[in-house]
Amino acid sequence: LVAQNLRDAGYALATCAEDADVILLNTCSVRELSEHKVWSALGRLQKQQRDDGVKRCVAVLGCMAERQAKELQTRAQNVDIVCGPSNLADLPDLLQRYFDGKRKQVHVQSATETTSKSGKASRRVDDEVVARLTRLDMTREPEQNAAQAFVRITRGCNKFCSFCVVPFTRGPEVHRSPAEIIDEVKRLCDSGVIEVTLLGQTINHYDYSAENKRVSFADLLWQLHEAVPELPRIRFLTSYPRDFDDATLEVMANASRICRYLHLPAQSGSDTMLKAMNRGYTVTEYLSLIERARHFMPDVSIAGDMITGFCGETDADHQASKQLLRDVGYKSLFIFKYSSRSGTVAHRRLSDDIPEAIKKDRIAELLTLQSKLGLSHHRSFIGNELEVLVESESKLKGNGGQLGWQQRRQDGEAANVPLIGRSRGDEIVAFSGPRTAIGTIVRVRAEDATPLSVKAALVPSSLDLLSENGN
Ligand code: SAH
Repeated sequence: LVAQNLRDAGYALATCAEDADVILLNTCSVRELSEHKVWSALGRLQKQQRDDGVKRCVAVLGCMAERQAKELQTRAQNVDIVCGPSNLADLPDLLQRYFDGKRKQVHVQSATETTSKSGKASRRVDDEVVARLTRLDMTREPEQNAAQAFVRITRGCNKFCSFCVVPFTRGPEVHRSPAEIIDEVKRLCDSGVIEVTLLGQTINHYDYSAENKRVSFADLLWQLHEAVPELPRIRFLTSYPRDFDDATLEVMANASRICRYLHLPAQSGSDTMLKAMNRGYTVTEYLSLIERARHFMPDVSIAGDMITGFCGETDADHQASKQLLRDVGYKSLFIFKYSSRSGTVAHRRLSDDIPEAIKKDRIAELLTLQSKLGLSHHRSFIGNELEVLVESESKLKGNGGQLGWQQRRQDGEAANVPLIGRSRGDEIVAFSGPRTAIGTIVRVRAEDATPLSVKAALVPSSLDLLSENGN
């Protein structure tokens, strides 16, 4: 969105930081580590400026800009523009004003206004800010030759999980209208996109009402599926495990072009932790959702997120998380050490009392276990055919890499290169094929597996299809 907005304002992308007049750092505040990385990047940029004597405009965008606007102006001397996630539409103006006067520009007026009357916080959406962001969404041109695109359907989060900073940096939930979403997807599709991923923090909470008509997430999915029949793949992220109704599962089961994939973060396998995290569901409820999902779609792949070392997490809680991994059988899992974030309930009321060494041990244990479970998940495909959207050439070249086997397979197949794609269940699939397959959907046969991927071979008739389509 930012690149498009700046291109429209006459800027062009530089190929490296040395060649740039403006350097944009897009930031995340979910964990402390992400913020540390930005501070280090700012340090590197300052050193670069000292070394080559060139003053470049440095802008910090995103959640950290919103959360640490003051620190960014005082602690980092080289930051010229601070622009929160709700103000991205104003970036060309901020740059113009900076270049006109070479003065620092700060814009972090949030889409939320939090007022604390009688000790109770209330959140209000600033309609003007939201309208500007929506215009930004709507004027976006698809990237040239892109086969995949993301479409935001909801902004913000109303959940207030005790560990999470997102509701504070992104503001309350605002849903875009179904007409606008469908329109954007149609435009992307017309420009050659073959997979659209709908985005929202708690996407299944999508709920749009106008003129006494209510459109739920299930309704939106179905409307979109029917309105854009030429779009081969629709995905969505991230689902919140509470209030995930059967209607959505039923639509997924009946809509052949909606991918059989759910990202359902559990965060913990212990009811005590889930309660302290304010997640609003129990382990039993979470597992029954997984069971319902598999009832509607026996072939659905499930990914998740887990936090280790949350406030007060005992060894028994940790063992319960391990049990949850075994019970669910995730395709893949993002595992994080708990990181206390100021402003959150956990930061104010709970003690971040698990020593770093234990957090590390627990994350390592979960990773080892998930590695075994991931291997058996990926092995389960061996012998089957998979439909794969080819994303790129594999970056892991050479025999030292995890995918070195592909190189060896290539003897006598000079035209083929190692390729990486995603199945409908979001499994990473590595195989060898022609570069022309990138950006298309092909069929492969699964032959082997790793904890994180399926290794496969192209089904030859897949290629005939490619040439028939003129690729
Ligand atoms: N809205 C999503 C998650 C958004 S943040 C939800 O359903 O919860 C992405 C992931 O970062 C979370 O799922 C969580 O696992 C992790 N995360 C968020 N806050 C964190 C914190 N304070 N410390 C460690 N991990 C955190």
